[in-house]
Amino acid sequence: MTILYTIDKSLYVNVTNACPCNCTFCVRLEHNSVGECDNLWLEHEPTLEEIIEAFKKQNLEAYDQVVFCGYGEPLVRLDIVLEVCKWIKANSNRPIRINTNGLANLIHQREIAYLLEGAVDAISISLNAPNKERYLEIARPCFGIDSFESLIQFAQACKKVIPSVTFSVVDVLSHEEIEACQRLATDMNISLRVRERIK
Ligand code: SF4
Repeated sequence: MTILYTIDKSLYVNVTNACPCNCTFCVRLEHNSVGECDNLWLEHEPTLEEIIEAFKKQNLEAYDQVVFCGYGEPLVRLDIVLEVCKWIKANSNRPIRINTNGLANLIHQREIAYLLEGAVDAISISLNAPNKERYLEIARPCFGIDSFESLIQFAQACKKVIPSVTFSVVDVLSHEEIEACQRLATDMNISLRVRERIK
């Protein structure tokens, strides 16, 4: 079972396969893994102890950063992610990033961004679309049409407590839609990264 895997010089953490979205471009629809491992489908959600044991086998100083990403939405397991961040901070000085769909407030039915203060150094939020209607079509979240607004509110809250906040979109969008995403990101003073779809 793959809990930790590498992409370039980053160490990635795979804590869950659960996700409230079903993005049209999701790599999980066509592949079993990304990076240098065979399979990111988990036999079971790893316990805190299993994750820490996996970390203990690594030399964290050999990596540029630790990234919570994996084959699901890491913030579904908010408590575990926070505990693992605490362990990483106590045992290394490597920066920590979370890659998230930005729907954690809906997942947990409360505002959670403030809990990330001091725990993570960066967060990359999948913006996915320039407006709520397109977001619903592309990300297909189980929370429905209100999801996009919650994502935007989450990003605003993250700006107050996390040193680096980035939006990302995948290049499945049209040029005009990517430009609209860029305007939205600029208005929020958040940088936007356009990612290539994994084929
Ligand atoms: S949020 Fe990420 S893991 Fe979830 S469906 Fe979309 S691309 Fe896949």
